[in-house]
This record gives sequence, structure tokens and C-alpha cells, in this order.
Amino acid sequence: MGNEAPGVAPDWLARGREALAKAELGPRVETVGRVESFADGVAFVSGLPQVELNELLRFENGELGFALALEADRIGVILLDASRVIEAGGRVLGTGEVARAPVGPGLLGRIVDPLGRPLDGGDAIVAEAFHPIERAAPTIISRDRVSEPVATGLLVVDSMFALGRGQRELIIGDRATGKTSMAIDVIINQRHSDIFCVYVAVGQRATAIERAIEAVRANGAFERTIFVVASAAASPGLQWIAPFAGFTMAEYFRDRGQDALVVIDDLSKHAATHRELALLTHEPPGREAYPGDIFYLHARLLERAAKLAREFGGGSLTALPIAETDAGNLSAYIPTNLISITDGQIVLDQRLFAANRRPAVDVGLSVSRVGGKAQPGSLRRVSGKLRLQYTQFLELEMFTRFGGMSGARIKNELVRGERIRALLTQPRYAPLRLADQLALLTALEAGVIDEAPLEAVAEIRARLPAHLDATAPQCVAALMGGAPLDESLRGTLVAKVTELVRELRAPRT
Ligand code: ATP
Ligand code: MG
Repeated sequence: MGNEAPGVAPDWLARGREALAKAELGPRVETVGRVESFADGVAFVSGLPQVELNELLRFENGELGFALALEADRIGVILLDASRVIEAGGRVLGTGEVARAPVGPGLLGRIVDPLGRPLDGGDAIVAEAFHPIERAAPTIISRDRVSEPVATGLLVVDSMFALGRGQRELIIGDRATGKTSMAIDVIINQRHSDIFCVYVAVGQRATAIERAIEAVRANGAFERTIFVVASAAASPGLQWIAPFAGFTMAEYFRDRGQDALVVIDDLSKHAATHRELALLTHEPPGREAYPGDIFYLHARLLERAAKLAREFGGGSLTALPIAETDAGNLSAYIPTNLISITDGQIVLDQRLFAANRRPAVDVGLSVSRVGGKAQPGSLRRVSGKLRLQYTQFLELEMFTRFGGMSGARIKNELVRGERIRALLTQPRYAPLRLADQLALLTALEAGVIDEAPLEAVAEIRARLPAHLDATAPQCVAALMGGAPLDESLRGTLVAKVTELVRELRAPRT
């Protein structure tokens, strides 16, 4: 640089002068706060009056936290990693940014924490963008009616409590009643669909999470699923943001006109984390010691599920939140909140589960408020009376247990009811296609399955898909393509099930 001709300003100097002329000089406000106190993963910070809710703050030792409680003279900051101790008196910088999660197809088939850091030992995520974890729900104007089905592959759900794209359906039940298994079955059934899945584990045991992920890996749909994990061992901060981050990752697909499904396993644990953080930040406790904003917290989360109108891309985001009950008590605080926020609930019953009636759906207490309109027309026609028929059978069974009632009509109803129950009892990881479900329900209606011994019903259901594929592929293709169930298709289905019944028929017991 020293050998340029004197008097001629070199290029670099000219550029430097230009940059200097544009630079804004003068005092600049940098938001630096001070740590007042730190305990249990929560730091109180003063001197940052401009910090927004959910804003990320950086501590001196590099730790990140987000602002959860904004008070007049201090803010409560939840540490995200909480691996190191924060010293009182240390400096804190406001970043001016809210917490964000990576989005994009690079996340599919990956296991990440709520901030998108890989937990599967793989490479760093290639994110298309980073979106805020809290985003406004779609407005009413931009929404459309729920009108397309989400096929779960579970006969009991698809026939009686059908789900639609954009719906919010709660899966609720006591401990170990198959809640996670049901949600995982729904994800597995998307292996042949165009729906992208996000499974969010909040506060679950590591072994349970691993089992769920391995089930998806072994049975399909892994490549179209994102696993967001904040286990019971993760910091409360990570557990708190996990459902929001999961929704943000799923919204990416919704907003591109695609379809997504998000499972939150589970919101009871999330509520407990929220309560813990609220108590640590000294929010006044309300009912069951939950802070007053717990309803709003989950409402604004689930409100992000939606079916968008065509002008807005027509995408959808379906939500399957899970909640745990205590001794089947649906009227506790968190269950009632969630039931009122969602569009229906699938109630799993401890006694049914113990009796090996799995999935242990309580048909009387479960409901799907919007999905019926999304059910494929062919399925709606054959399943219309199923629920009524089945609940009547359950009552009848109770009465006849005490003896006394007899007669041909009652006997027939019992035979039918027992077979409905056997059909609805479905093993895990064995989803039924629309064509299989139609075949079973049509044959049931035609009385064909009544002819089979009760023990053979499970076998018929298990053999049916392969039998249909081998002997009536056009019929399967037509039904899967949405063809109406006309007389000829109906005839074929009944004939196919009849063949299986004949094969398996043994002397009636
Ligand atoms: P938790 O309350 O612990 O989260 P959960 O309600 O999510 O439990 P799962 O973990 O899905 O229940 O299931 C509990 C146990 O029952 C698991 O060991 C699982 O293997 C078994 N199980 C669940 N569903 C079925 C099913 N349909 N058929 C056979 N076994 C099942
Ligand atoms: Mg579970």
C-alpha cells in the first residue's frame, strides 16, 4: 500500500471514505441488562425495558434464554439449555429477535430438538429459513371448511370419528392406554399419503420416545416425518417451546399449499412445565395451581391448525394433541380446557385397554365434530349406522349379562355386535386402506361376517388386504381413486370377504 503515487487517492481509500460518509455516527443504544438472580433455570434480568415477549437474550457465557415474564422493572428469562450456572451481576444482551425454529424439507426424516439441533447424530440441518416459534393463526377470511379426509388406517376412527384435514382432535386417556401408539399409527398410515408429519415429544421418557420413533422407522413414513424431541430430561425452557416449534415446522408445509399433521405428545406435560415456569417467575397461581393464561397458551397454539382457502394456497395443518387424564377424569382443568379448544376427542379407556380391546376407544365419549363431512362418501354410506348399532349392542350386552332376555332378534344383535367389536379391535402397525375398510363394513352389513366364528374375525381382517390385491386389484384401485360404491363394487367386496369366511369357517362354538 505504501508504493502508490503520492497525491492520488487509491481505490481502497476512496471506498473507505465513501463508507465512512454513509455510516451513522453518534450515540447508539445497546440493550445491555444485568442478571439480578438465577435459580432453577430461570434468571431475573433488569435494565432491558424494551425486550418483547419470547425475545431471545444472550448471557455472558453464551447461554440463550427467552423472555417469558415481563414485569415493570425486571423480566423473567427461561434458559434454553441451562447447562451452566448464570452468575448474578453478569451482563445480558437483548438480541431483538424472538426464538426461531428452522423450517424446510431438510428436516424430514430427522430427529431434532426444538431449536433444530440434530439429536440423531446426523449433519447439521440445512434449513430453508428460520421462522418465529410463535406465529399468528390464520384469519377467518383465509380459512376454508374442513372437507378432505385424513385417513388414519384405524377402522374405529375412520368409520366413526373420521378426521378431516385442518381439524384439531384430542387423543385423551389415562396413563398407558395406548395414546402414543394411536398417534404413531396415524403417522405410519401417511406412508402412502401426501401429508407431512411432525411428531413432538414433550416431557416423555427417553425410552418411550425411542420406541415411537423406531416404530415409524420400521413401518414407513419416516422420510416424511420430523421428530421434535424435548424429553423429560430436557430443560423446562426447551420443553416449553417444543410444541410451538413443532407447529412452526409444520406450518411451512401448510403455507406452501401442502398438507401437514402435527402430533403433540403430550399437552398435559406441557401444561405442567408451564405451571412450573409460572411459579418460578412468580405468576399468581389459579385453579389446580396453573397460571391464568394456560387456556390462552394452548388455544393460541392449536388455533394455528387450519384448512386454508384456495386463494391462500389451500394447504392444511391437522393437529392431534394428546392429553393424559387421572382415573378417567375428563372434567379436570387441563382436559376440559383442551376438550373445549379442539374439534373433538378420542377417549381411550383404561378398562377396555386392560381387556385387550385395543385401540381402547370409548365409543360413547368420543366425538369428531367436523370430520364427518370430510369422510369419503363411500365410507360414510356404509358406516352411517355403525356407531348406533354398536352402542346399542354394548347396552344390550350389559342387560343380557344378567340373563333373562332371549329371542332370535336379540341373539342376532349380539352376534353382530360381537363381530363389530372384533373388527374394531385392531393390532398396531397394521393400518387398513379405504378399500379394506369398505370391504369389511359392506360384508358386515350384508351379514357375511355374522357367519364367521368370532375367533376368525381377526384373521379375516388380517388376510383381507392381500386377498383383495391378489384377486380384485381393479376394484381396489377404483375405490382408492374415490369411485362411488356402486352395486357391482359392493358385490365384488362382499364376494371377496365371503371367500375368506368360507376358508376360515370352523364349527361354530
Ligand atoms: P403413557 O401414558 O405412558 O404415555 P400411552 O397412553 O401413550 O402411555 P402407549 O405407550 O402407546 O400408551 O402404550 C402403552 C403400552 O401398551 C405400550 O407398551 C404398548 O406397547 C402397548 N400398546 C399400546 N397400544 C397397543 C395395541 N393396539 N396393541 C398392543 N399393545 C399396545
Ligand atoms: Mg405416551
